[in-house]
Amino acid sequence: MTIQRTLAIVKPDAVAKGVAGEIITRIERASFTILAAKLVHMSLAEARGFYIVHRERPFYDSLCAFMTQGPCMPMVLEGESAIQRWRDLMGATDPAKAASGTIRKDFATSIEANAVHGSDSPESASFEIPYFFSSFELCPR
Ligand code: ATP
Ligand code: MG
Repeated sequence: MTIQRTLAIVKPDAVAKGVAGEIITRIERASFTILAAKLVHMSLAEARGFYIVHRERPFYDSLCAFMTQGPCMPMVLEGESAIQRWRDLMGATDPAKAASGTIRKDFATSIEANAVHGSDSPESASFEIPYFFSSFELCPR
């Protein structure tokens, strides 16, 4: 048993489409515990800081602009193997390659506007969770 926490984000494309609720329903049905959630409209500096690991990638500027185009919904999810299980529920980065039944297959528009984010390792989660939430904003149970 490895109980983990991961940072999930309903990205601006999915919030704008009005599918945040459907995505949260999938999270709840998959037995994650939501420890925190809020709407945030990131500044460009905040988006650039969040995706700093991608600063050398050709899509970095476009990705950061996309993430600031409207509010997104960061959440902290907890559960058994939460990091990998949330990534499995999200599906592949490119929705054209995502398996059927995954969130990206059903709700993403493109490889960039791909509906959701998930931490990719315990180290990433340790950076990403406090990027959005103080310890007082988490509701363990
Ligand atoms: P995330 O980190 O958002 O959970 P991921 O781990 O599946 O997604 P990464 O490789 O970390 O994918 O890329 C971060 C984000 O950058 C992607 O989710 C997507 O929004 C965007 N992205 C990735 N590759 C491309 C690309 N080739 N062109 C445009 N945007 C891209
Ligand atoms: Mg990633």
